Formats: sequence, structure tokens, C-alpha cells
Amino acid sequence: MHKGINIQNISDYKINLLDLNRKEIELFLASLGAKKFVTEQLMKWIYNYNCSNFDLMSNLKKDMRKKISEKSYVFASDFTEEKVSYDGTIKWITSIDKQKIETIYIPEKKRATLCVSSQIGCSLKCTFCATGQQGFNRNLKVSEIISQIWQANKKLKEKNNNIITNIVFMGMGEPLLNLNNVISAIKIILDKNGFGLSKRRITLSTSGIVPALDKLSKKIDVSLAISLHAPNDFIRNSIMPINKKYNIQSFLNSVSQYLKGSHANRGGVTVEYVMLSGINDSNKNAEELANILKKIPSKINLIPWNFFKNANFVCSSNNRINIFANILRKKGFNTTIRKNRGQDINAACGQLTGEIINRIKN
Ligand code: SAH
Ligand code: SF4
Repeated sequence: MHKGINIQNISDYKINLLDLNRKEIELFLASLGAKKFVTEQLMKWIYNYNCSNFDLMSNLKKDMRKKISEKSYVFASDFTEEKVSYDGTIKWITSIDKQKIETIYIPEKKRATLCVSSQIGCSLKCTFCATGQQGFNRNLKVSEIISQIWQANKKLKEKNNNIITNIVFMGMGEPLLNLNNVISAIKIILDKNGFGLSKRRITLSTSGIVPALDKLSKKIDVSLAISLHAPNDFIRNSIMPINKKYNIQSFLNSVSQYLKGSHANRGGVTVEYVMLSGINDSNKNAEELANILKKIPSKINLIPWNFFKNANFVCSSNNRINIFANILRKKGFNTTIRKNRGQDINAACGQLTGEIINRIKN
């Protein structure tokens, strides 16, 4: 069980409990001779009370606390920077091994969404995405994904802000390329003694790693969002290199399969479509899009493209986006236009760049 769990610089042999889901904590505690209910007590302290100090876990027996602390610790990397937008959006930065990852909090009237990162950078090089253009460094560990939520909860409690009601894997990185860690993190988010969110309130966004999506459908049910962004392979190949490996048809087939086994996606999959002037935003493109989605229960979310430095795109005009949306609506698609949040602090979609220091060439 301890294999592959890379420990922070606190100790050479201890386990960070934020790397473990319930089953793994159970196994760990069993190895120390603890009863099963200790798992629940421990998780409650860690996740409900944001407690990382075993001495404070008063309902755990003293000798058990000692045993646990000899073999493990609870460590959530703290945010190193915080930027608050005029619209209430908060961008938190965590520096890990001189790399930066970003976590965004988006409060709305009736909910508050936390957008988490799953990788440092991204290897997929979508041409319209700042993260993709930065390159890839490495996958985040389970504890590094979980730390973002743990620290955000802590900060929000201190600030008396709305608690997190939704979590989206839409920050830096492609979650399906860090599948095992993302699945383990989702298990902790779903767990009633973890963050306790329902599967409908967790959204995983993917650019279409087909074998990983097939695997995900056998492992976990969450809301799915797909970065489609083009109505045909010709356009998608030109802006999303991953399409040359897994084309639109194979991606949509895999999505259909996922939906068949899913309760979290009763309203259909969310289709993300970034609006790029002169590239994918014509009336014909809207018709094509409606056509390829005919058989897939879906809601379409049009995303005005967000500018980043050295990018060669222009966002479609509001008028164009509205016309595009109306064509889709006439065809019966529930279509929304995403509001841009936190643009003044570079927290909007595709503006997350971190700072990739050890970029891996691929
Ligand atoms: N890698 C995953 C998760 C990231 S989600 C994925 O691509 O789905 C981030 C969302 O923002 C994706 O839909 C992405 O395509 C979109 N995006 C990327 N760059 C953008 C930009 N500059 N403006 C608007 N949306 C962008
Ligand atoms: Fe990676 Fe998603 Fe950006 Fe594409 S859009 S480069 S898959 S983060």
C-alpha cells in the first residue's frame, strides 16, 4: 500500500494520510491494530475539523494516537499566494518544489465552486490554452490534489465565506492522464467522512483520452464535461493535437458509454466549446455541432475565449456567440454562455499558467 506514496520532506518513512482514501486508511490502521471505527474518527478530524495535529484528536485513545503519529502525518501544502477578484473569485497558488499550481474559488448566489488542478502543466498542447502552451512538468499526488480542497476549506471557514458546494477538475492539467490519483482523490471527495460531496457536484473535464475515459466509467461515476471545441476532425486536429490520436467519433462513442452507466449525468454531458473567431464559430459550424451531438444527451456551454500572452486567437464577438447559441437552441440544445469570472486576476479558463520550471519536452 505504501508503495508509490511519495512523502514530503517531513520524514523518510511516514505516510501523508491525505494520500489515502478510506479503504487505504482502514488498511493502514488495521496494520497498527486499530478497530474499524477509528477510520471514521480519524477522517472526521482531518476533513470535518481540518485538524492535522494528532494530539488534538481527543476521542482517539492516546496510545493509538502515538502509533499513528509514528507512522504517518497529515500535511496539506499551504497556499503561498492569494488573489481576490472584484467579483469575489479567489485564485490561490501553491508552490511545490518551486513549481506553481493554481486553485480557483468561484462563489455564486446558490453555490460555490472550487476548480482544482490535477497536474503541473499539461502535455496536450491545445493551441488556445495557456496551460497547454506552458508544457508539462508532472502529475500531482493524491495529497496535492486533496490539499487544494483542504486548504480552501480552511481559508473559507476563517473568512466566513460560503463553503464549497461543487468541485470541478478544470484547473491545470488533464485529469485523465493522472487517472489513478484523480480517482483516489474523487473517492475522498465523495466519502461522507471526507468532503462528503455528491457525485453530481463533482465534475471532471477531459479533452478526450479515450482509453482512460473507458477505464473511468468502470471505476467511478461523476459529472462529465468534455472539451470538444470543434464540430469536425479537421478543425479539432488543428487546435487540439490529441484529436489525431482519439478523434471526435471515438471520443463521443466513449462518452455515450460513460453516460449509459452513469447516474451523475442524468441531464447529459456538458460540452465545452471555446469560441474562437473565424475558426470554429460560423453558422455552419453550429449546424455541424448540433449534428454530431444529435444522439448524445448534452448541454452545451459556449466559452468566450480568454486572452493570454502570445496567443494567436481572437475571441468571437458577443453577437457571433449569441447567433451561434441560438442556432443550437433552435435545434433543441440547452445552451449557455459561460460568464467570465476572475479575469482581472488571470483566474479564468485557460489562463492558468503556473510557472513550469522543469518542463518535460514531448
Ligand atoms: N484538460 C482538461 C481540464 C481543463 S478544463 C480539459 O481540457 O478539459 C479547462 C477548460 O477551459 C477546458 O474546457 C479548456 O478547453 C478551456 N480553455 C482552455 N484555454 C482556454 C482559454 N484560453 N479560454 C477559454 N477556455 C479555455
Ligand atoms: Fe491541457 Fe485541457 Fe489545456 Fe488542452 S485545454 S492543453 S487538455 S489543460
